[in-house]
Amino acid sequence: MSDLSETNTICACCGNTARLQQLQNSTQTLCCWCFNRERLRINTETSAHWPTDIELDIAEHYPDLVSPNCASLRPTIGPGWSIILDQFLRSVEADPKFAKSPPGHLQISDVKTTRVGEISIGWHWYFDWVEPYEERLEKLSAITCCLCGHQGDIVRQGNRSEPLCGFCQMPTRKA
Ligand SMILES: [Zn+2]
Ligand SMILES: [Zn+2]
Repeated sequence: MSDLSETNTICACCGNTARLQQLQNSTQTLCCWCFNRERLRINTETSAHWPTDIELDIAEHYPDLVSPNCASLRPTIGPGWSIILDQFLRSVEADPKFAKSPPGHLQISDVKTTRVGEISIGWHWYFDWVEPYEERLEKLSAITCCLCGHQGDIVRQGNRSEPLCGFCQMPTRKA
């Protein structure tokens, strides 16, 4: 999976301002409307429910990042955030400092959505070198739709704490 660009460019389909997005098996520069049209088209073709069917279990996929007696840790966050959370966990494990540290030195206790609509990682054990990764994840979550995973076109409504893209914000989606 390539790193997502922070530069605004143009949607490949309609010419709206857009960023590079992660789709099922590719990255494309798409606005939230074209992103969701493409996402739903691929889901229909492949009978998938991406990103809902990612269902990231941290204990299962990253056993070295939870306590040894933790059998399952499924974060209570929107499916759109599973992608950026997975990228975060992979980056932490890939850091040379992780390999040099004793086992069990980093333990995630839970993952939540804060009241301001950002992702928040709780730790049993924590080391300072993780902080830049965590800050990047928090910033990214604030601009990532927690339902579909689109980045950059967040609509915030009143006190609503969850970031949603224009497509997922549409009243018809709530029916
Ligand atoms: Zn577009
Ligand atoms: Zn969305």
